[in-house]
Amino acid sequence: MDAFEYRGKTLFCEDVKIEDIIGDVGTPTYIYSKNAILARYSELKTAFSDVDTLICFSVKSNSNLSICRCLAQEGSGFDVVSGGELFRAINAGGSPSKIVFAGVGKTDKEIKYALENNVFMFNVESISELEHISRLAGGLDKRAHVALRINPDIDAKTHIKTTTGKKENKFGIDFSTAEKIIRKSSKYSNVSLSGLHVHLGSPIYTVDPYVHALKKVLVFIERCRSTGVDIEYVNVGGGYCISYTGEKVIRSEAYAIKMLPIIKEMQCKLILEPGRYIMGNSGILVTNVIYRKETVHGKKFIICDAAMNDLIRPALYDAFHRIWPVNTNIKLPAVENPKRSVIKKGMELVDIVGPVCESSDVFAFGRALPKLKEGDLLAIFSAGAYGFTMSSSYNSRPRACEVLVDGKKYCIIRKRETYEDLIRGEEFTKC
Ligand SMILES: *Cc1c(COP(=O)(O)O)cnc(C)c1O
Repeated sequence: MDAFEYRGKTLFCEDVKIEDIIGDVGTPTYIYSKNAILARYSELKTAFSDVDTLICFSVKSNSNLSICRCLAQEGSGFDVVSGGELFRAINAGGSPSKIVFAGVGKTDKEIKYALENNVFMFNVESISELEHISRLAGGLDKRAHVALRINPDIDAKTHIKTTTGKKENKFGIDFSTAEKIIRKSSKYSNVSLSGLHVHLGSPIYTVDPYVHALKKVLVFIERCRSTGVDIEYVNVGGGYCISYTGEKVIRSEAYAIKMLPIIKEMQCKLILEPGRYIMGNSGILVTNVIYRKETVHGKKFIICDAAMNDLIRPALYDAFHRIWPVNTNIKLPAVENPKRSVIKKGMELVDIVGPVCESSDVFAFGRALPKLKEGDLLAIFSAGAYGFTMSSSYNSRPRACEVLVDGKKYCIIRKRETYEDLIRGEEFTKC
């Protein structure tokens, strides 16, 4: 949780009290630490500095303009998966020469937009897509740089909904199809095939899947080179893990130590696409307890003003997020077991739920927490990645406010939506 720590009985982000920010902007609110973001970025950069490495921040993990701008100013590139994300990356000050464009379903409109902006590379996921890119590049009299996204059929041992590198997944191109493309690469006259890309899923808690994939890719690179196609870049994607429980997990150096020797053997430049690693523990979601409710069956519900529309990971992936009061006499446990919550004096077992009309709108089941009352603030930790970006206005709930803290200062980087925002663009039918 790096930048978020309790000093005395109250939670801080860097040098700012969370309750001061909330007093100003209300709840629910995402709060990010600028210095945590930059520290994680530079930790990765340092770990991989032995080879020529471009870090392309995965915009889908957190696409706020201010956050993308902070990273752009540090020299980060961007990994985008849609025209909209490309628009954001460019508006944040991202240099197109460091933007890679991934995704299985790039439309002609998106491809053209990316070509016109001279993005660095397309991560191509099918033969049809390659044909479209070549034709559209020809129309604009350009040459597109392309990496083939390989589906190496490797189990990254992560959640079924976040695994992307197995043969049954929609992502990437299998090795034998990739080989056919390589053999006929001259046919794609406006494309220069210069990279290979793999992204196995997320979060991945060991280095083994990466090593396994890279070894397969290494063999393939040699085959490419023997047919006269030089592979200059290898892109290992993202998926680097963070701790959601307080437990120690591997960090960038551990990934680098095992991956770098293979990259060196490949004699390739390296591209990384981290999202969660940089943002996950650099942000929290703060919510307010609206009601307590107890049933005759002995269940205790804490009903708060954030919901699945604000943070969908628990509902979508059964994800575990640590939750603790912003102000408390009881210390946050150093490590939590997602399967079994430990009750201590002054604590109780509760379900933490939101107001949305869905039974899946639950942040935590049977969690041991200090006794809470109406009006208490709760911090939901590890919410910096895939939090706000996956939020919606379901149940016509205006989306949360986002705040960035830098030392003793903080700024609103996205205003809370209003009711007016909710109906913007809607019109009564004229027919
Ligand atoms: C989502 C995604 C990433 C980022 O994954 P993280 O787990 O956030 O690091 C990187 N590359 C691609 C192609 C992705 O789809």
